[in-house]
Amino acid sequence: MYDYDLLVIGSANADLVIGVERRPGAGETVLGSDLAVHPGGKGANQAVAAARLGARTALLARVGDDGHGRLLLDSMRNAGVDTAGVLVGGAPTGVALITVDPSGDNSIVVSPGANGRLTPEDVRTASALLAASPVVSAQLEIPLETVEEIVRGLRPGTRFVLNPSPPRELPDEVLAACDPLIVNEHEARVVLGADAGATPSEWAEALLARGPRSVVVTLGEEGALVADASGVARVPSVKVDAVDTTGAGDAFTAALAWRLGTGESLTESAAYAARVGAVAVTREGAQASFPSAEEIASM
Ligand code: ATP
Repeated sequence: MYDYDLLVIGSANADLVIGVERRPGAGETVLGSDLAVHPGGKGANQAVAAARLGARTALLARVGDDGHGRLLLDSMRNAGVDTAGVLVGGAPTGVALITVDPSGDNSIVVSPGANGRLTPEDVRTASALLAASPVVSAQLEIPLETVEEIVRGLRPGTRFVLNPSPPRELPDEVLAACDPLIVNEHEARVVLGADAGATPSEWAEALLARGPRSVVVTLGEEGALVADASGVARVPSVKVDAVDTTGAGDAFTAALAWRLGTGESLTESAAYAARVGAVAVTREGAQASFPSAEEIASM
């Protein structure tokens, strides 16, 4: 028996958001709205999304010994995430400074802070946590060497799910461990580099040829494609009125990773995840938009 259904390893950020009439140019100061502080970061988002669905979820991450770190820990605990694996200190909590203009266009500066200090050694020290869940999910807002160490530390039979965001080319060792690699169009193009094909099925097939045991290409309102040795299949999206797509990819990935661990097939898990992603886009924000299992069951 496992202690957890899902272990997420990744980033936790405080998103600091200010609305502005116009974003400032060099040397310019503009006045903006009141500051809004939201818990974010792809690791924390995935952990909260899974916990809200009822998954027993643990997070391995690093935050600073500061107010933002405490805010993030509180919000994750309130969502039901086990934060015993969240390390504190070493650098300030990661922050995204976001300005949004009236048309919704934003400018973002990210300070990775403590996320950049989640080291391979931290992963080795947490080996018991890695063995405590059937599925481990990661993203790329932590150092790549740390992700490489996760892959090396996986127990036989532990399923590894990677969303390579922000995208970059990936070492073969990491690609070979993914089951699945989950990408949107932009991430598919960056991971594939010059070999990217023209259509989502071509991306899925080209990615599969790089070594992952399975691949999922998310296509926003078009749903997703799943691909493995048995071929490529389409997972239809659920029709909804989208309000804010922030966090949809994180909610989708977390839901899919959790369902895989319950024994569902890739197609079944992706169909469930598509419902979770669809609900997430009907509400503002990232973590605030993630649905409960009851909401998904009643769709
Ligand atoms: P983001 O970066 O905005 O968090 P993403 O680009 O990583 O998202 P998407 O492909 O936009 O990922 O969304 C993930 C999944 O959520 C999709 O595969 C789909 O199932 C669902 N989804 C996203 N947008 C919509 C939408 N407008 N209508 C219905 N389902 C959606």
